[in-house]
Amino acid sequence: MDIHVLKFGGTSMNDHQTWKKVLEIIKSYEHPIVVVSATAKTTRQLIEAGELAGSGNLDAAREISASIHQRHLDLVKNFLDENPHAKNALILESCTLKLEQKIGFLNKLLSYCHKLNDLTPSLKDAIAAVGEQISSYLLAQCGLATDQLTQFVDAKKVIKTDLTYGNAKPNLGLINQKIESLITIMEGGFTPIIGGFYGEAQDGTTTTLGFEGSDYSASLIGGAVHATTIEIWTDVSGVFTSDPRYIKNATPLAELSYFDATEMAYFGSKVLHPSTLKPAQERNIPVLVKNMFKPEDTGTKIIRDSISDRDALAISFKDNMALLTISAYETVMGYNFLRKVFKVLEDHKITVDAVNTTEASVTIALTNSLDLDEFTKAFIEVGQVSVQNSKGLISIIGCNLSQSTDLTNSIFKPLKALPLDMISFSKEKRIINMVVNEDEMITSAQAIHDTLFG
Ligand code: ADP
Ligand code: ASP
Ligand code: MG
Repeated sequence: MDIHVLKFGGTSMNDHQTWKKVLEIIKSYEHPIVVVSATAKTTRQLIEAGELAGSGNLDAAREISASIHQRHLDLVKNFLDENPHAKNALILESCTLKLEQKIGFLNKLLSYCHKLNDLTPSLKDAIAAVGEQISSYLLAQCGLATDQLTQFVDAKKVIKTDLTYGNAKPNLGLINQKIESLITIMEGGFTPIIGGFYGEAQDGTTTTLGFEGSDYSASLIGGAVHATTIEIWTDVSGVFTSDPRYIKNATPLAELSYFDATEMAYFGSKVLHPSTLKPAQERNIPVLVKNMFKPEDTGTKIIRDSISDRDALAISFKDNMALLTISAYETVMGYNFLRKVFKVLEDHKITVDAVNTTEASVTIALTNSLDLDEFTKAFIEVGQVSVQNSKGLISIIGCNLSQSTDLTNSIFKPLKALPLDMISFSKEKRIINMVVNEDEMITSAQAIHDTLFG
């Protein structure tokens, strides 16, 4: 069986009209497995409701849950109105029941947060997953109204994970076993529709794979079924030279390697979740990024070996970064200074994006977080710490700096007037990372984009 795993994100799941488009795309495949996100904004609203309930405001949390309920019910009603079918009364009844059941469950979770006066990590995951649980069930039901044999599958039956709430690690062995249930459904002529983003730990609790995790669910499923392609259907025609929402004249890349696509995702190109490429790469499955509003556009194909003669491939950027400089108390670093610095990072489970060292200091670029203050205190024994907030990280991906002086000019010339806080370059990884002021990040990225790809 030539299986294609198709993933549709929040924007594709926005309203009854986009659902119609999604179902049309699904119809054009012989053996698709469909992975869907929650409808646009739902995950964020769910988490907000959990936070409100956990901080004493149960009424406001319940209001959000009621609005999610109503929005989804309206969506289904609008869909069924525009797609008349003999089964519609039954479909509406089953959608209404499911919504009541799921929103009832959500309200119970919210009450529990309220009682505990806390949104614990496990409750947060159980609450966040409700968005995908609803969207996958309702879309599968709406599929029946367009004469497709779509069947809802609860992701908890397939995506087995560890207990790391909020960023769960998949248990590949178990997923490979459980995937058989999807194959059986397909052999029966049905199209499985499964919610992305969430799964289940050994103890039966709900876990999530991290923000934007539906891409990862799709590639885990694609890897497990040895899919022919894993297709990420979104609102842009592929992976661009930079985020087209912010950077003028960004253009789609026809082809990209798993390696470069992963680096782009990691350094802020949020069109893909950073872990997406791993399961695909392990089984050498092409990942396609396609525009669901323009299915005729070629999109981007991500494969193992993509040869490019460009000096650089793309520019990623992310904001809300902090720069930490730890200076040794001695004027020259002792041989164990770096070990001590990295030990603090390890003890606090801090991942860093870029590091620079001089003869007596280390500068670290990392995502700013709530516990940064606490974390900086831990360096007191090691050296003097200074923190700079509101920084942005610009990453130039796939660059052959050492081969091209043009490239060096293209990158640094536009930055003449802008203060740089830090630069690091890895020839092996073909990446240049630069830290600038957050409010100058987009203009700087645009200026580099203009000279590199203009
Ligand atoms: P979905 O809801 O389909 O998961 P996302 O919003 O997560 O969609 O991802 C698509 C968005 O990613 C695009 O609208 C675009 O703004 C953003 N994006 C960031 N960097 C890039 C890039 N390099 N190429 C394409 N899109 C990018
Ligand atoms: N709904 C989840 C989120 O918004 C997962 C996803 O859309 O990929 O992060
Ligand atoms: Mg996404």
